[in-house]
Amino acid sequence: MTKKKKYVCIGCPIGCPLQLEHEENQIKEVSGNECNRGAKYARQEFTDPRRNMSTTVLISGALRQRLPVKVSGAINKNRILEAARKIHELQVVAPIEMGQVLIKDFLGEKDIHVVACRSMKRLSDTITVFRTKKPERSKAGKPKKR
Ligand code: SF4
Repeated sequence: MTKKKKYVCIGCPIGCPLQLEHEENQIKEVSGNECNRGAKYARQEFTDPRRNMSTTVLISGALRQRLPVKVSGAINKNRILEAARKIHELQVVAPIEMGQVLIKDFLGEKDIHVVACRSMKRLSDTITVFRTKKPERSKAGKPKKR
C-alpha cells in the first residue's frame, strides 16, 4: 500500500511543500518541488535525515570559559542528543587553533569531526600581549590620560 509523507523544503526561502509517496522503504514519487534540490531533500529526509550541529565546550587556561565548536558534516538526526552529550563531556585546554580537530571520526562517521570554530590563546600568553603593548601617545608625544 502506498503511503505519503510531507516535508517542507529548506533549500531556499520559497519553502516548497513536498510530498513523498512510498511503499515500505521504497520511494515511488516526490512532488511539490520547484527544482531538483527539493526532490533530493525529500529523499534524504526519508532515507537518512541529517542535521548540522554547533555548540560550545569547556576550555581551561584561556581568557574565556567556553570554546565554540561544530561538527564538520551533517549527522543522523536521531543521534543529535547522543552527539550533544558526547560533545559536552569534552573539556579542552588552551591553546586551541581554529579548525583543530577535537574528536576525530565523530560517532564512528568517517571524515566527520568535531572541530574548533575559533582560536584561543593560553591565558598567560594573552597577558604577555597586554603587558608588551605600548601606551598610546597624544600628538604632543605625552602618554594619553585615561
Ligand atoms: S524545491 Fe527548490 S525552489 Fe522549492 S524550496 Fe526547495 S530549493 Fe527552493
